[in-house]
Amino acid sequence: MAVQRTFSMIKPDATRRNLTGKIIAKFEDAGLRVVASKRVQWQRADAEEFYGIHKERPFFNDLVDFMISGPIVMQVLEGEDAVAKNRQVMGATNPADADAGTIRAEFAESIEANSVHGSDSPENAALEISQCFKEEEIVG
Ligand code: GDP
Repeated sequence: MAVQRTFSMIKPDATRRNLTGKIIAKFEDAGLRVVASKRVQWQRADAEEFYGIHKERPFFNDLVDFMISGPIVMQVLEGEDAVAKNRQVMGATNPADADAGTIRAEFAESIEANSVHGSDSPENAALEISQCFKEEEIVG
């Protein structure tokens, strides 16, 4: 498997609890490198655009409210098989189903406040990276 890039976000529940470093350590321990990073406060339109794919789901408004409730950390992660590896390190969406040792098993508060986002395919990774970073902000 070739070296890939994927998009990751540390969500407001985790920045609020000062867990940024502990979460990044999980990525690094799994062999992923942070090649771009920025901490931002999203406005409603940013979250609505990013999660537009979920706009028909019943939890959409709650998810948008949650994602603008505090700062997030956007990152590009690079490594072998980075998309799948990041999803592995994150664990299942619902922390109750997440494998032991994963970020969501250790840190998530709920199915919504689940500490991290990660792209679910190489195509979405490319899209999400280009939505949030300029090429010159990514330094491998
Ligand atoms: P992911 O790829 O594992 O993040 O999961 P999804 O793409 O299915 O969902 C996107 C995000 O929406 C999740 O990470 C959660 O923050 C939130 N979410 C997913 N399912 C639910 C749900 O049933 N209820 C609520 N309140 N939020 C949810």
